[in-house]
Amino acid sequence: MRGIVQGVGFRPTVHRLATAMGLGGSVRNDAEGVWIELEGDADEVARFVERLPVERPARARIDAIHVRELPRPPEVTPGRGFRIVRSLVEGTARAALPADVAPCDACLGELFDANDRRYRYPFINCTSCGPRYTIARDVPYDRARTTMAPFALCEECRAEYEDPRSRRFHAEPNACARCGPRLCFLEGAVRFHGESALAAAVGRIAAGAIVAVKGAGGFLLACDAHDGDAIARLRARKRRAHKPFALMARDLATVETIARLDDAARAALVDPSRPIVLVPRRADADLPPSIAPGLDELGLMLPSTPLHHLLLADGPPLQVMTSGNRGEEPIARDDAEAAAALAGIADAILTHDREIHTRADDSVVRIVAGAGVPIRRARGFVPEAIALPCEGPPLVAVGAQLKNTICMARAGEAFLSPHLGDLTQPQTYALFVETIDKLGRLLRVEPTLVAHDLHPDYRSTRWALASSLPRVAVQHHHAHVAACLAEHGRSGPAIGVAFDGTGCGLDGSAWGGEWLVADLRGFRRAGHLGTIRLPGGEAAIRQPWRLALAALADAGVDTPLLARIDERRRAAVAHLCTSDVAAPPATGAGRWFDAVAALTGVRDEVSYEGQAAVELEAVAAIGAHEPYAFSLVAGAPFVIDLRPTIRAVAADVAARVAVPAIAARFHETMAHAVAAGCRAARADSGLETVALSGGCFVNRRLVERAVALLAADGFETLVHRRVPPGDGGIALGQAAVAWIRHWRA
Ligand SMILES: [Zn+2]
Ligand SMILES: [Zn+2]
Repeated sequence: MRGIVQGVGFRPTVHRLATAMGLGGSVRNDAEGVWIELEGDADEVARFVERLPVERPARARIDAIHVRELPRPPEVTPGRGFRIVRSLVEGTARAALPADVAPCDACLGELFDANDRRYRYPFINCTSCGPRYTIARDVPYDRARTTMAPFALCEECRAEYEDPRSRRFHAEPNACARCGPRLCFLEGAVRFHGESALAAAVGRIAAGAIVAVKGAGGFLLACDAHDGDAIARLRARKRRAHKPFALMARDLATVETIARLDDAARAALVDPSRPIVLVPRRADADLPPSIAPGLDELGLMLPSTPLHHLLLADGPPLQVMTSGNRGEEPIARDDAEAAAALAGIADAILTHDREIHTRADDSVVRIVAGAGVPIRRARGFVPEAIALPCEGPPLVAVGAQLKNTICMARAGEAFLSPHLGDLTQPQTYALFVETIDKLGRLLRVEPTLVAHDLHPDYRSTRWALASSLPRVAVQHHHAHVAACLAEHGRSGPAIGVAFDGTGCGLDGSAWGGEWLVADLRGFRRAGHLGTIRLPGGEAAIRQPWRLALAALADAGVDTPLLARIDERRRAAVAHLCTSDVAAPPATGAGRWFDAVAALTGVRDEVSYEGQAAVELEAVAAIGAHEPYAFSLVAGAPFVIDLRPTIRAVAADVAARVAVPAIAARFHETMAHAVAAGCRAARADSGLETVALSGGCFVNRRLVERAVALLAADGFETLVHRRVPPGDGGIALGQAAVAWIRHWRA
């Protein structure tokens, strides 16, 4: 059997079923998956093969069952029983390693049962829950190859581990307070262990301190979510002016007191992958605004480990839980990293002695068009395989520059790494290099091909160019569209709409508002948004007011709208705009959102990527709104001219039309632009399927309106559900393109 069959209680299920059916034989993990030998009546064996997929453990996924008859042993041994036998390390490993799983209900029941021997034990787990990917050193997934290896099972734990009737039969991280990992609290010279460590951490959080807590995939920084002073200190120490903080809530009822949930949001929150879910904040939510300044959403999650359950049960029921890192560095993985990176940020540390082998940040999901879209894909999802609609040699795709992830692929399956981050940070780049090695080993992928972005200055591209492997260069927006097609098992052709900030185009200029007629192999640029100048290049991305000035000038609007900006600075930017070098023209859709955010006074300067656009979305009034005018200039490629839109926005701002109404109309305009471009692309390609990709399509309003308009126009629309629309999904698209080009080259 192949699929997600290790670390999910698969062998115990096989054992129970075979025993119940009176079949003899054995089951073992091997590098390809699970190997089962059955001995018994042929009809019963056939029935077993039918029943197992139906009765598989909840977290298991069977991708393939290969059945063949083994030579009859010289002596049939009726009633010899069924056994679980040791793993074989040999073989061409393809066993999928499971992702980490939040505590199951049965374990939680025991955690809070004063009569249970694991009462309040922060590392309780079973075959249906617990750490997996983050503790695995190698495959097959067996205790000896995890960071649990140093902990010798006590008699009771061993008995469970060996008892096929137990929920902990071959639960690899099985442990108890007697034999397993234990907590440690550190603050200056103060040191506590076990229950006292937990009590100390809870006491400090309740008293307003910031405590670094070792979670499943790394350290998180915790403080009381109702304590505005603690949050202000956390912002100052992390040097994080506005970027929202995620919150962890004790339970769903606590979430409902501050957020409005629909069924999709509720399902995402309780999913065993336990992501942070972005949900609308309730108007009456009593929370410091500093948690998510300028936004109408909160990032919320439920406890992802037993330790978090205890912290939230004993301490404040709502706590900030943000990545334990400095700036954009990787999340701290061990005590030494935490001590070094978090010394000036956390007042105390709550740690433990179960090592995290592979770090994984919390995942982030947003509910868009009725279901979750991953914004950051990491803990709980990685390293789940994504089947690709193509095949090729083992390869590594190295992704983009910001929000980097890498992708390993072999035999029709792709594995996206957890979110790594901004490769311009030296520590993140080091993690990128380490991940290529570590993930390759875990998945037994020895790349013979590397896929990379066209941008020559991305650190990932430079790594690829320096490697000795054959290379495939994939254009940024083609990779976005390919990722969307591939995660849906499609190979195209389709109309791909790629809206993001900036990506390197085929002509070397900055693209980002693209309509491509594409399949996995290649693409044609059917159309694009009109260009907007970036006065000062990168500076224009940090200061959207520069974009607003450039857009106004380009649209021929002479207006004192941005009089709040110092006159000399405005004059300097106007001067930059006379040069293609100082103010490079770009087609990025994100830049148009930035320009309108500045034009409406929503945001002149940003402190985190995408801030202006998310704040513009947050202020947009609900309800139906008319689009502003824009024009489609036919040609190859066609151009969507947004200058009429800018003139209309400027007129509305000058007429003091309410900003929420302007923001809503601008979103509607962009959705109509998406649809108009798709109609134009359909007219000359005949294609009826649209794939929406790129970072702008985490914008719920834009996606939902575009999907509705496209449906009304008779299109089938694909949106991301398994990998991020932003640059976190690029590597998957690169892998698919590289394979298909290589396969039928
Ligand atoms: Zn469990
Ligand atoms: Zn034990």
